[in-house]
Amino acid sequence: MAVRTVRQLGDPVLREKCQEVEDISAPEIRALVADLQDTLAYWRKTTGYGRGIAAPQIGVLQRVIFLRLPGEDPWALINPKIIEASAERIVVWDACLSFLSIFMQVERNRHVTVQYQDVQGNQHEVQAGELRDLSELLQHEIDHLNGILCIDRVTDLKTVCTKEEFEKRYRAASPYAVSAGQ
Ligand SMILES: [Zn+2]
Repeated sequence: MAVRTVRQLGDPVLREKCQEVEDISAPEIRALVADLQDTLAYWRKTTGYGRGIAAPQIGVLQRVIFLRLPGEDPWALINPKIIEASAERIVVWDACLSFLSIFMQVERNRHVTVQYQDVQGNQHEVQAGELRDLSELLQHEIDHLNGILCIDRVTDLKTVCTKEEFEKRYRAASPYAVSAGQ
């Protein structure tokens, strides 16, 4: 379909709450999923970053996220919802395509259970933990649907650093260690 412009920090659309998708078979939802896929693939190719993207990042206020885990098939989640979250929390490195020049440490739940629909409208449930860093990734993308950005979840402002410093000092031990080129 199309590579769309990724909205950048400061664009008010990133702070809006998204609406539930009611008609998953609607042509605009199919087009949205295809655009999210193309846009994510483009960012991954040009920057080495991009494990997931959420609809508001391309200016669409619908509850749709799209993930691309290393070595796995592209994965669209419609109306994803966290139905269970572990009390235990972890601190992880995070970043966002809407402000890729900075990296930061954020706090997340160690495990979450997410309910969602696929592009055919079938209901699914996924239990996510540290494997493939899926839990934090889902929390990051679902936050986008509620107008929440990872900068809102910074544990210590002193951890905020530039992309260059992150790559030099911290990337190897972060969830981004395996992201590049996959
Ligand atoms: Zn993001």
